[in-house]
Amino acid sequence: MVRRWVQYLYVWPRTKPGLPRLNHHVFSLYDPFAKRTTFPAGLRFCVNSHVGCAHSCQYCYARNYIRNPEMPRRKEGFLASARRDIRDLNELKLGPVPLHISNSTDPFQEPLERDCAHTLGLLNLVRANRQLFSTVTVLTKNARIVAEPEYAGALASLMPCQVEVSVAFYDETHMRTFEPGAPSIASRLDGIARLRHANIPVSLRIDPLFPREPLPGALWPKPRLEDYGLKHTQSLDEIEALIRFASQVGCQRVIVSPLKVPVGRYASRAFRDTFKELYAAPFGGRPRTRSFAWRLSDEYARETLIGEVSALGQLHGMRVVTCWSNLVGTR
Ligand code: SF4
Repeated sequence: MVRRWVQYLYVWPRTKPGLPRLNHHVFSLYDPFAKRTTFPAGLRFCVNSHVGCAHSCQYCYARNYIRNPEMPRRKEGFLASARRDIRDLNELKLGPVPLHISNSTDPFQEPLERDCAHTLGLLNLVRANRQLFSTVTVLTKNARIVAEPEYAGALASLMPCQVEVSVAFYDETHMRTFEPGAPSIASRLDGIARLRHANIPVSLRIDPLFPREPLPGALWPKPRLEDYGLKHTQSLDEIEALIRFASQVGCQRVIVSPLKVPVGRYASRAFRDTFKELYAAPFGGRPRTRSFAWRLSDEYARETLIGEVSALGQLHGMRVVTCWSNLVGTR
C-alpha cells in the first residue's frame, strides 16, 4: 500500500539520478504547513478548484505562497486533470481518505465559480467516485451559493460531508475592514440557515479570533487595543451572537483559530504594519514568527482567546474546537 501511495504522490527522475519530488496533482496531499510531528494530518487530499480569491481577506494564509492572491483566476484544464487523478487513484486502489475543498481559495467565490463551475464539476466527479474518499469537507465564505439547489443537491449526495462556513465578524463594518471582497455577513448566515434546512451538516468557523480587550497585563503593558494603534474588531458579545445563531440553526460545531499575521512573500504589508506593535509587545519588541506568520503567545491563545469562546459555547450547547483538532479529528 505504501508503495502505491508513493507511486501516486511522487515523480522519479527519468534521466539523471536524483531525489524524487512531489507530483503535481489536482487531488494533492493536504499540507498543514507545519511539522507532521506537531500536526499529524495523516494522508488526506486537498483540492483547490481556483487560484487566488476575490474575497481578499487581509489575514489570508495563502498570501504566503500565492502570487497576486487577490486576483482570482481559473485553472486551465482543471477538470481534465482531476479526471486523470481519479483514474490513477482507482487504478492504484488508493483511499478512502478525507477530502478537503479548498484551503487556498474559496471554491464557491463569485463570479469565478458562476463562470467556470469547476467546483460543481469537481463535486459531481467526487460523487461518481465516492468510494475513494471517507469524508468530504468544503470550506467557504459564500454559503448562499452552496445552498442553491444544484450545489446543495450535489453535497447531499456526498454524505458524509460537511460544509464549514467562515464568519469571523458579526459587525459588517469590521468585516469590510479585513475581508473587503467577501460576501456580507447576512448572506452567509442566510446560507447557513438554508443549508441546515436542507439537513446538510454545517460547522461555523469563527476564524480568525482577533486579540480582545482587555489585553492581559502579564503580556501587554497597556490593556487597550488603541494603545497599539488598533480598533476594536471582535467583542465577546459579537462572538456570542454568532454562537447563539449556530446553536439555533443546529450547526454541528464551532471552529476557532487565533489570528496569525502572514509575513510571507505576497502577504499584505499594510496588514502586517497594523498588527506589528501588538504582536511584538509581549515578546520584547519583536514578533514571534513560525511558519511565515506572527503568532500570539500560546498561553493567551489557549486560555483567553479560545478559552472564553469555549465557555460561551458551553453556555449555548455548542462544541467549540480548534482548527487543529477539527482537522485531525476529520477522518
Ligand atoms: S476566503 Fe479564504 S482563501 Fe479567500 S481570501 Fe479569504 S481566507 Fe483566503
